[in-house]
Amino acid sequence: IEEPIDPADELMFLCLGGGNEVGRSCHIIQYKGKTIMLDAGQHPAREGLAALPYFDEFDLSTIDILLVSHFHLDHASALPYVLAKTNFRGRVFMTHPTKAIYKWLIQDSVRVQSLSSSSEQRTALYTEADHLSTFSQIEAVDFNTTHTVSSIRFTPYPAGHVLGAAMFLIEIAGLKILFTGDYSREDDRHLVSAEVPRGIKIDVLITESTYGIATHIPRAERETALMKSVTGILNRGGRVLMPVFALGRAQELLLILDDYWSRHAEFQRIPIYYASNLARKCMVVYQTYVSAMNDNIKRLFRERMAEAEQAGDTDRGGPWDFRFVRSLKNLERFDDVGGCVVLASPGMLQSGISRELLERWAPSDRNGVVITGYSVEGTMAKQMSHEPDSIPAIMTNRSAAPVGRRGPGANGEAEKPMIPRRCSVQEFSFAAHVDGQENQSFIEEVAAPVVILVHGEKHNMMRLKSKLLSLNNDKATKTKIFSPANTEELRIPFKVDKTA
Ligand SMILES: [Zn+2]
Ligand SMILES: [Zn+2]
Repeated sequence: IEEPIDPADELMFLCLGGGNEVGRSCHIIQYKGKTIMLDAGQHPAREGLAALPYFDEFDLSTIDILLVSHFHLDHASALPYVLAKTNFRGRVFMTHPTKAIYKWLIQDSVRVQSLSSSSEQRTALYTEADHLSTFSQIEAVDFNTTHTVSSIRFTPYPAGHVLGAAMFLIEIAGLKILFTGDYSREDDRHLVSAEVPRGIKIDVLITESTYGIATHIPRAERETALMKSVTGILNRGGRVLMPVFALGRAQELLLILDDYWSRHAEFQRIPIYYASNLARKCMVVYQTYVSAMNDNIKRLFRERMAEAEQAGDTDRGGPWDFRFVRSLKNLERFDDVGGCVVLASPGMLQSGISRELLERWAPSDRNGVVITGYSVEGTMAKQMSHEPDSIPAIMTNRSAAPVGRRGPGANGEAEKPMIPRRCSVQEFSFAAHVDGQENQSFIEEVAAPVVILVHGEKHNMMRLKSKLLSLNNDKATKTKIFSPANTEELRIPFKVDKTA
C-alpha cells in the first residue's frame, strides 16, 4: 500500500484558458503555498465576457505573481481587466519591450473596439482609462536575470516568436518549472531564437502545442513560396491582402517584402502599405530595442545608419525605416487603384481594416488573400482557408452591399448580406511557433519528467501527446504527459526527501 501523498508535496496546475484551445491563455500554478498566474489573454473568436479566461473558477486574490510571456492579445489583453475589475492584488511582470508595446497595443485595441460596428451590443470589458490607470502596476524585467518575489524565483529567457517574448523559468521551494509561452527556434530576420536554459534540471515543462505534429517547410523555401504567391497576384493585375496582427510578425514580413522589392526593380512602382494606427509608434519602439534583436538586424542597422549619415539625413535610417513600405492610418486616405500589397490588421479578419478590404476585394478572381499567421477556430481567417463560396458582409454599408445571395438568418437575427468570394486564398506559416519536430526536440532536450501541453486546438494537441507518449517506449523512466482542459485541475505529486 502506497502512503497517501501529502497535499503539501503536490503541484497544482489549472488552465483558466488555453486548455485544449488556442486563445485566452491563462494558467495557475500552486506549490508549497505559492501561487503564480501565467498570462492573461482573450479569445480572438469570442466577444465580451465570453472572450475571458474562467476567472470565476479561481480566487485571484491568492495569486502572488502574474508573469506575462508576450504582448499578443491571446496572452495579454485580459490584463487590464484583471487589474481593474477583479480582486487580484499580486505583482505583475513582463519584459521591457513587451511592456512598451503592450501599452500601445491595448490602447489601440480598446479604441478599435469602441469604433467597431457591433459595439452597441458589446459590453466593454474595460476602458482606456482602466488600461492607463493600471499600466504603472506592471513591473518590467530584463532577459536572463533572476528575480525573487515572496521567495518565488523567476528568470525570463528569449523565446523568439515576437519582440520581447519570454520563456519563464520559475523556481518554488526547489521545484523548477519552465513555461515556454509561444516560442520559435528557426532563424528569423530580426529575433533571437529560443534555447534550452543550460545546466538546469527542469522538473516541469509547460509548452505550447499550436502546430501539433505538423512540419513547416524550411524557412528559405517558405520565403520563396510566399514571394511567388505575392508576385503572382500582382502579375495578374490583382491586389494582395495580407491580414496581420498589428505588431510583431508584421515587422518580419515587412523585412522580407522590403528586401525583395529592393532586389526587384520591376515591382518598385507597386506600393506596399502597412495599414496600422501603430505604424509610427511601433517604429520608434522597434528602433529602441534593436539591441534586443539578432545579429542580422544589428548589421542592417549599422549599414542603414551609415547610409543615412552619408546622405546627411540623420532623421532617417535604421532597419525599420523601410524603403518601399508606406504607412496607412485608415482607408479614407487610401487610393484604391491598381495593384498593391496591403498588410492590415486584425490578423484573423474579424473586423476592422483587414475585414473591410477583404469584403471589397473578395469578389474579383484577380485579387488574393495571403495568410501568414495561425488562424484560430471560429475566426474569418480560418473560414477563408476553406475557400468558401461567399462570406458575410459585416463592414460594408448594407445599402451598398451587393444584392444577391443572403445568408441564413438564425434565431431571428437580421440576415447578413453575403459577398461572393472569388479571390485566391493561400497560406504560408510565418507565425513563428515551433513545428512538431522542433517542439519534440526541445521537449526531449529539456527532459523534464512532467510535460504539460497548452495552447493548441484539441486535435493538434492530442496528436502531439500520442507522439510524445510513443517516445516513452524506449525510456526507463517514462515522461508524464498532461493535456488538461480548461478548469480541469491537475494534482501532480513531487516526492520530497523527508529524512527527519
Ligand atoms: Zn503569440
Ligand atoms: Zn498565442
